[in-house]
Amino acid sequence: MRPFAYRRASDPADAVRSAAGAGPPTEAPVQYLAGGTTLIDLMKLDVMRPEQVVDLNGLSGELGGVEADARGLRLGAMTRMAEAARHPAVLRDYPAIAQSLRLAASPQIRNMASLGGNVLQRTRCNYFRFTDFAECNKRVPGSGCAAMQGVNRKHAVLGVSDHCIASYPGDFATALAALGAEVEIAGAGGARRMAFEELHRLPGDTPNVETTLAPGDLILGFFVPAGPWTRRSLYLKLRDRESYEFALASAAVALELDRDVVRQARIGLGGVAAKPWRSHEAEAALIGRRLDEIGAGRAAQAAFASARTHGDNAYKVELGKRTLTRALLAAGRLEV
Ligand code: FAD
Ligand code: SF4
Repeated sequence: MRPFAYRRASDPADAVRSAAGAGPPTEAPVQYLAGGTTLIDLMKLDVMRPEQVVDLNGLSGELGGVEADARGLRLGAMTRMAEAARHPAVLRDYPAIAQSLRLAASPQIRNMASLGGNVLQRTRCNYFRFTDFAECNKRVPGSGCAAMQGVNRKHAVLGVSDHCIASYPGDFATALAALGAEVEIAGAGGARRMAFEELHRLPGDTPNVETTLAPGDLILGFFVPAGPWTRRSLYLKLRDRESYEFALASAAVALELDRDVVRQARIGLGGVAAKPWRSHEAEAALIGRRLDEIGAGRAAQAAFASARTHGDNAYKVELGKRTLTRALLAAGRLEV
């Protein structure tokens, strides 16, 4: 690992001041340290090379906590994954969020990792993570994409570009996208809120620019609006093994039903897309229809209509459709 300077932020404003700058935050010379389970990993691999690390761990009071009321659920950015996953209000009223956290990583990582760091985790594409590979537009802009013709079984089929087909690996962000969450940010220009769906960018021709954040932007927390669909929600994750593994395909679904007819639907897809993916197409295909095999299958068809495959990952279209169909039918059977 390269040498770097370390300092502890004394408050959120101090953190923002010390990390402000220009360019994509992932390449910024100053990085925040939360749980460190992505950052330190990538520093050891020489993929991320900050000159300074600003530790947020003294700010758990200001940036932590889980609060729920009639308007919705607020999750502080420094809340640990495990803490949010076991919170009674999250378990009862937002099960898709609790499940997305509980099915991620390992107990040790969930005790350490923060929610803010979780949504900013980087792709698991091996050509990105290992610097022996020369071609990776995300790591070295303009160098090419080794995955296009290489081993791409775990890569994305939605939202990909001719420059990058990496999949976004996180589970929690898929649930946030589905439930129409907002993200609260403090930056050089003050505090702001935006739709969580706008936080991550599609790769386009600049896959190295992963989010709409600026260097120094500090995620303060997330807000998930309450709705009649949040209790009837779940997260289904399919992977190569049942523990300690990233999703090959996942679905976060939330439904409001009138008997067996869908009034409202919220649908997110994970493991198959370049960013945390909300499928408005699948939602539109469901609303006003009966929730049965045919209705769920039609929504799954709509969700993957724009899929683009690259050889090894072609199976993900069928797997993704089956995952979504299964999740929708299971959500329909929930007792709420
Ligand atoms: P850090 O590593 O501290 O930070 C990550 C990035 O976010 C850094 O660039 C940092 O500067 C930035 N950052 C952190 N906090 C903030 C903030 N408040 N505002 C702005 N920027 C911030 N995840 C899954 O979803 N599913 C899995 O199945 C899964 N399996 C895993 C298996 C392994 C072996 C490992 C190592 C990780 C796995 N993960 C999985 C990823 C893990 O959940 C993330 O590494 C973790 O959540 C990141 O959080 P952190 O607090 O450790 O972030
Ligand atoms: Fe790099 Fe993206 Fe290609 Fe992977 S898929 S090698 S991250 S450019």
